[in-house]
Amino acid sequence: MDLVLLGAPGAGKGTQAKYIAEYYSIPHISTGDLFRGHLKEGTRLGERAQAFMSEGKLVPDDITEAMVNDRLGLPDAGPGFVLDGFPRNINQGKALDAMLRARGRLLDEVIHINVPHDALVERLVGRRICPECGATYHIRFDPPQVAGICNVCGKELVQRSDDRPETVGTRLSVYNEETAPLIAFYRDREILLEIDGTQSVEKVSQAIIQQLGARHG
Ligand code: ADP
Ligand code: AMP
Repeated sequence: MDLVLLGAPGAGKGTQAKYIAEYYSIPHISTGDLFRGHLKEGTRLGERAQAFMSEGKLVPDDITEAMVNDRLGLPDAGPGFVLDGFPRNINQGKALDAMLRARGRLLDEVIHINVPHDALVERLVGRRICPECGATYHIRFDPPQVAGICNVCGKELVQRSDDRPETVGTRLSVYNEETAPLIAFYRDREILLEIDGTQSVEKVSQAIIQQLGARHG
């Protein structure tokens, strides 16, 4: 199953992508995670991306699309994938179609996780991540067992630099201006599933699996 998760920063894409990936045994491909991985390893790509990420802006399409195309070519993406954070504008949406067409594939479904603006700000500024394994927590909605410490690897949790209030505003504006038009783009193709993302993590997961199951058995 070839899936895309669409939603504003903080909507819960990463949280749900992890669940969907396990459920269908397909890889979770997050462009944000890929960029952060490059940054951690000090690659040239990471260096180029950092300037845009730290300001809450989109990394240029050519860099992003080449990275996604390479990732989709790895053998584990053969049976399907769940893309999280890509596409983020109409150009990237068209580029994804071309990448899939070149492989004789077609996007199956786009899951739009819908969360209102005020809830997004609270989710983003309260998000904490593990710098070691990438696990995601929330200081209020999903706290670790020991405050500030990763349940999985015991490392001290950190706040993503782009989750600070001064960058969050830019990221949400970029979403509204550049990414939100993809909702109509996919609705017109009748592959858009609308999910109420204000529910609990478990309820959102259930709604996604139920809607996918209803369309794909
Ligand atoms: P995205 O990948 O869309 O930016 P995340 O999955 O990282 O979003 O979630 C953003 C923050 O909100 C995280 O701190 C996460 O723990 C929390 N979160 C995710 N889903 C929910 C939910 N349904 N209810 C409350 N908090 C949530
Ligand atoms: P995320 O982890 O999805 O919130 O992404 C973090 C940052 O990585 C974004 O604010 C962008 O700067 C960059 N990024 C991630 N995905 C894309 C994309 N598809 N296109 C451009 N930039 C992206």
